Amino acid sequence: MKINEDYKIVIIGAGTAGLSAAVYAQRAGQDVIILDGKGYGGQIGSTDKVENYPGIASVSGFDFATGLYEQAKSLGAKIKFSEVKAVEKTEAGFDVVTERVTYKTSAVIIATGLEKRKLGLANEEILTGKGVSYCAACDGAFYKGKNVAVVGGGNTALEDALYLSTYCTNVYLVHRRDEYRAEQTYVDEIAGKDNIIQLKSCVPAEIIGADKVEGLTVKSLKDDSLKTLEVSGVFAAVGQVPSNDIFKDLIELDSSGYIVAGEDCLTSTEGIFVAGDCRTKEIRQLVTAAADGAVAGIGAAKYVRAK
Ligand code: NAP
Repeated sequence: MKINEDYKIVIIGAGTAGLSAAVYAQRAGQDVIILDGKGYGGQIGSTDKVENYPGIASVSGFDFATGLYEQAKSLGAKIKFSEVKAVEKTEAGFDVVTERVTYKTSAVIIATGLEKRKLGLANEEILTGKGVSYCAACDGAFYKGKNVAVVGGGNTALEDALYLSTYCTNVYLVHRRDEYRAEQTYVDEIAGKDNIIQLKSCVPAEIIGADKVEGLTVKSLKDDSLKTLEVSGVFAAVGQVPSNDIFKDLIELDSSGYIVAGEDCLTSTEGIFVAGDCRTKEIRQLVTAAADGAVAGIGAAKYVRAK
């Protein structure tokens, strides 16, 4: 039998944006539940180190996320680790539907973040968890004393390469351009590591191995030559994509699937707010996710009070 529960505000996503929204909405006197099918922390929960959050020189991503999770709970926010299947408009507000429970609410804050982009290679899916990984901080320790490849040229890829270079014999950093997208501090840091081998203007062509990763063939974009790297792990760090499909009939998404909203975190539907990386925005950083959480949390609390 389906159970109904009532909350003033339902937050979808327990990453930095969602947890920050809960802190602000609870402090504004609303009862809040946060729903997340994967656990708490979002992207930052699996980040090795955070060193660019104002006021905190250095903290592990897990400790940062846990601090925020405990803060939201201590203020009275409820958290359930259930996947949201649908959000439906009702006369009174919205139904947020999970497998067992339908949450009836006046306002919804969507803070679903982003999902890791896949490399798009033939046996990537079957070798995921068998050498292919999307999280160096989660899986890096399994590759102690081995060779690995990291694909990508953004902050995540360079951070991952640096992290893995502390465990692994060699880290091949495979990037499709000659210049990195990552911040200069990371570019300078990898240049100082003897065991990070930079393969620029190269793309991954084939993951070798049937039951586990045994190598990665890369193609040079300069002369089309192929080279197979003897690696046991392939860490994909080629960016993220939104996964907002379940909301597409309810609110406006842009052509890439991001929820259309400005700095006020208002979506095209009254009563639905959005916070963090899943919305259209210029800068996707921890601090901007937290800031969105504050704006959406306060905005939703005001909306509920006025209703
Ligand atoms: P990103 O900045 O979007 O970088 C993705 C990288 O993957 C780019 O170098 C891109 O190449 C490459 N790429 C994309 N599609 C590819 C494909 N199909 N094949 C091969 N390469 C591909 O993603 P991110 O590094 O995950 O970072 C996401 C956001 O989080 C950014 O805003 C970043 O600043 C932020 N972040 C911040 C920190 C920090 O501040 N410490 C840490 C991690 C992430 P091109 O460069 O050629 O496009």
